[in-house]
Amino acid sequence: MSTDANCIFCKIAEGKIPSSKVYEDEDILVFHDINPWAPVHFLLIPKQHIASMAHVGPEHTEILGRMMALAPQLAKQQGCEPYPEGGFRIIINTGVQGMQEVHHLHIHVIGGPRPWKKG
Ligand code: AMP
Ligand code: ZN
Repeated sequence: MSTDANCIFCKIAEGKIPSSKVYEDEDILVFHDINPWAPVHFLLIPKQHIASMAHVGPEHTEILGRMMALAPQLAKQQGCEPYPEGGFRIIINTGVQGMQEVHHLHIHVIGGPRPWKKG
């Protein structure tokens, strides 16, 4: 599996930096955002280092599909209220102009009862 020794999310995926884990399997790790915008805010990452959405190609179809399919199920489990009154936001910041701060692909899932701190 490709990892980047200087990448904070690779270190989290490898267990070298602790995280508050929501879900884990062989290829995917999900953990709470350290600086949540809302009552529910977690991040889904592939364990392999993919720097951003701009680096995604056809070879990533399966992993991205699995992450997206996991998101609603975990959103519900973590306390997002049912659609349509409840719901959640899915955000994938990409690149500097796209407001990406950590350059390891991650999917934000943000939700829960408003008001939120941000978003
Ligand atoms: P982005 O701006 O999309 O790159 O988002 C990066 C997110 O990672 C931010 O919401 C941070 O709060 C979050 N973050 C950074 N370091 C950690 C960490 N060690 N554990 C959990 N979340 C983190
Ligand atoms: Zn990484």
